[in-house]
Order: sequence, then C-alpha cells, then structure tokens
Amino acid sequence: MSLPFRVTAKFGRFQHNAAEKPKRYPNRMQTHAPEPLDTRIVAAALSAPERFSIGLLDSCESTSTLLLDRAQQGAPSGSVVVCERQTAGRGRRGRSWLSAPGDSLTFSLLWRFPEGTPPPAGLSLAVGVAAARALEGMGAAGVRLKWPNDILAGGAKLGGILIETLTSGGRHVAVIGIGLNVRLPPHIASAVDVAAGALDGVMPFSPSRNLLLAGLLDGLAVMLDEFARSGFAGLIEEWLARHAHAGQRVTILAEGTAPIDGRCAGVDADGALLLETATGLRRIVSGEVSLRPQ
Ligand code: ATP
Repeated sequence: MSLPFRVTAKFGRFQHNAAEKPKRYPNRMQTHAPEPLDTRIVAAALSAPERFSIGLLDSCESTSTLLLDRAQQGAPSGSVVVCERQTAGRGRRGRSWLSAPGDSLTFSLLWRFPEGTPPPAGLSLAVGVAAARALEGMGAAGVRLKWPNDILAGGAKLGGILIETLTSGGRHVAVIGIGLNVRLPPHIASAVDVAAGALDGVMPFSPSRNLLLAGLLDGLAVMLDEFARSGFAGLIEEWLARHAHAGQRVTILAEGTAPIDGRCAGVDADGALLLETATGLRRIVSGEVSLRPQ
C-alpha cells in the first residue's frame, strides 16, 4: 500500500499529496504526558533561527497583549512569545480564545515591516495561507480558511488568528497571534460556541508542538517576505484554493446593523470579502463583522 504522504528529509516532516483523498483520523485521547514546550527543540528545528527570538512562558494573560507592550518598548522584529497557559487568551472583538495546557499551541510573533511599505491590509488572510501551508507540510488534510481569520478542517474550527497592528518609527508593526487546538479536551469543545476540532483529527499522528511551532514560524517568515514584496495580492490564489465557503451563501453579521445575505465570490487584494448580494457585489471589510454559513 502506498502512503499518501512523502517524507521530507528535514525534521521528518510529511508532505501531503493533494491528489490523494483527504483522510480523517479519529481524535486521539492523550495516553501519556504531553511533550513539554522547549525553545531549544524549536530553535534546532527552525530553518532560519536567526530571524526569531523565542521566549517561553508557563503562564501569561495573552501572548499578544504581552508582545504589543514589548513592541511599544522597542522589541525587535521576530520576537516570539509562546505560552503554555493563557489566562485571558483573546480573539477578535473582545472574544476569548480558550486553550488547554499540553493540548494547545498559543503563540504570538512581532513583525516590523520594512520602511515605506503600506499598511499590511489582508495580513490576517495571508497568515492563514502561511499556517495552512505549514500544517499541510506536516501532513494535515483538508485544511480550509474561513474569512477572515479562522483555520478549519472538516467544517470544525481548529485554529484562530488575531492580527493587531501599530506604527513605530514610521514603520508598520504587526503582532500576529495564533491559537491552535493540537488535541481537543472535552472541556474546551463544550465551552466554545462553534464546532471545534483539533489537528490530531486530521493528521496521521498527534504532532509535536515544538516542531509545529518551528514549522509555523518558518512558514510565517517566508510568507512575510512575500507579503512585503507584493502584499496579499500575491497570495490570493492560494487563499481561494482553501476558501471554506467558496460560492456558498452566507450571512454577514455586524453589531448595530442589519445582517447582509449573499454568496461568497472571492476576496480582494486588501483581504475584503466579495459578496454577491441582491443589490449587487459588495466588499465586506473584516474589522467588526462575522461570517456565518447559511
Ligand atoms: P467568528 O468566526 O465567529 O466571527 P471571531 O473571528 O470573531 O469568530 P476569533 O477571534 O476567531 O473569533 O476567536 C474567538 C472565538 O473562537 C470565540 O468566540 C469562540 O467561539 C471560538 N473559540 C475560542 N476558543 C476556541 C478553541 N480553542 N477552539 C475553537 N474555537 C474557539
């Protein structure tokens, strides 16, 4: 029997063969102590370790809150905070991101864009592409992106992306927060108001969180270089290839305004969702809205 994965030399990563039918794997129970996060393992696995400075915390409120503070104090580009226990993990618009020690991967990356580059419009979608590439490179099947910031597989949310930006010294700075369910303990699944999933349900093995972090950081650095050259425009096709709701009818919800119904017709170079509505094509910008499939 031939394997649907090609083993690559580096870190024993798996390359998913897109021609094969995606496999689903039963979510596995944790049968042994989870592998501890270890920055030495992460650094050894990175292709470009010189681009990152990784700090590991046992506990913090939110890795993004911490890095936003550090960004204002001049922390360098490539600063990373990874944390085992977030006590106030954040999503968009004041929502919470829940995680479980040992079973989740939650981290943030501080990135300073080159001087003279425009505001990083569409960065949330571009980070989705980088995350999907990295997860697929480790063998994850059926990864899809929900506009503007969710990582799904099999219709379930297994990751969230939070982008926060500021300007410093005339340069745009982004704090990129990523939360992933590596495994999904029942108390997290029942506490969230969406269908949640985990990586171990779509990968042939329960991944090492250290190697996962290294793969994601390498992938983010590659994507951020591409993004600095050509913005989200250069990544649109890759995002659309993984669009969870391509051509589907959805409702856009925003506080204080009427819901908007329409059919997803792609995304723009600035990351706006294109929605075919009864009154014509509308551009939906991500700031304060949520998308719900109908
Ligand atoms: P939506 O997709 O509903 O618009 P959002 O983009 O506003 O959500 P996020 O910023 O992605 O929200 O994250 C917060 C939301 O994600 C929470 O309200 C909850 O529904 C969900 N959530 C929180 N923790 C988890 C988790 N570990 N796994 C899956 N979903 C989670």
